[in-house]
Amino acid sequence: MSVSRPTRVEIDLAALRHNFQEIQSTVGANCDVLAVVKANAYGHGVSGVAPVLADAGASLFGVALVEEGVELRSLGIEQPIVILGSVFPGQEDDVLEHRLTPVLYDLTCARLLDSAARDVGRTVDYHLKVDTGMGRLGFRVERLDQVLPVLKKMKNLNMTGLMSHLAVADEPERPLTGLQYEAFARVVEKVETFGFTPRYRHIANSAGIYSRKLTGCNLVRPGISLYGGLTGGPFASQFTQKPVMRFVSQIAQLKEIPPGEGVSYGHRFVTSRHSRVAAIPVGYADGYNRLLTNCGDVLIHGRRVPVAGTVCMDWILVDVTDLPEVQVGDQVTLLGRDGDAIITAEEWADKVGSITYEVFCNISKRVPRVFVD
Ligand SMILES: *Cc1c(COP(=O)(O)O)cnc(C)c1O
Repeated sequence: MSVSRPTRVEIDLAALRHNFQEIQSTVGANCDVLAVVKANAYGHGVSGVAPVLADAGASLFGVALVEEGVELRSLGIEQPIVILGSVFPGQEDDVLEHRLTPVLYDLTCARLLDSAARDVGRTVDYHLKVDTGMGRLGFRVERLDQVLPVLKKMKNLNMTGLMSHLAVADEPERPLTGLQYEAFARVVEKVETFGFTPRYRHIANSAGIYSRKLTGCNLVRPGISLYGGLTGGPFASQFTQKPVMRFVSQIAQLKEIPPGEGVSYGHRFVTSRHSRVAAIPVGYADGYNRLLTNCGDVLIHGRRVPVAGTVCMDWILVDVTDLPEVQVGDQVTLLGRDGDAIITAEEWADKVGSITYEVFCNISKRVPRVFVD
């Protein structure tokens, strides 16, 4: 590949491994881990992330889309790949060809898969999804008496998992999570009375893993905690996850600007003193949120400096007046650690009114991911 501009994401594979091991030791050896790597491993770069998680001991992988499952297979992942989102009509052949494991919450989808599997003399493993309170995907509990006999007749489908999804796991004080566990336990019983014996029972995402005991489950589905992004709020003091992503760039131009002059679009920053301003080749097209205009910080030489003015599509400007020694080519840390200073994904998310997940996912495709070990 040709040399690109210096803006890139560095992925710390040792930190990723550490986070996986911390999850595995939290849930214990009798619980398997399904590593969620949807959306390009939450923006971290699935091609580097998935093989490391497979080596670390992930028993299954989770993605949102059939397309993402196909990509994982092309990377050489052999473990079961669960399509947490939907298999849309027409995607049945991809499911069969790449041995993907759909999550079923809809009988129309189940019928299409059953008949596609019958046509080629195969069976498809699937996980049944039940809605115990999320109100999003899943069969509602009260429909199971009708649904389960229908599924039972589909001889080319094989239920290997039973799952639900928590709605408020990140707020451990709310009682709904406990109620969802109770509802799920009743669902497990019901499914078994209809003659199904799913190998895996699972309900917990990252916050679920760290908020209460995983009664009745033998599989967990961490995503954000693999990437070190579940470190805020009630989880802050619980464990020692490491951030996996660093987002870095370099100073491309430095200039002296007299007092009273505006910089960047709209002149939303006006110098109040004789200033030194650095131009950094990163912008909102890279995922540097435009809401960081006049409020983001970056790290240079281990010190914080503020974004000056409007975030542009390809550039930001930062005020380095207080760091007279900086030079063109010096490294700039947009997210992550530089010496003793750190810009966490939480800090960034709080400033733009979002969550760590979105900060990571928004780092765009044109930013190269570099894997370091
Ligand atoms: C994305 C996803 C997860 C992972 O959630 P985190 O909060 O990132 O741990 C788990 N389960 C399902 C169904 C998902 O879609």
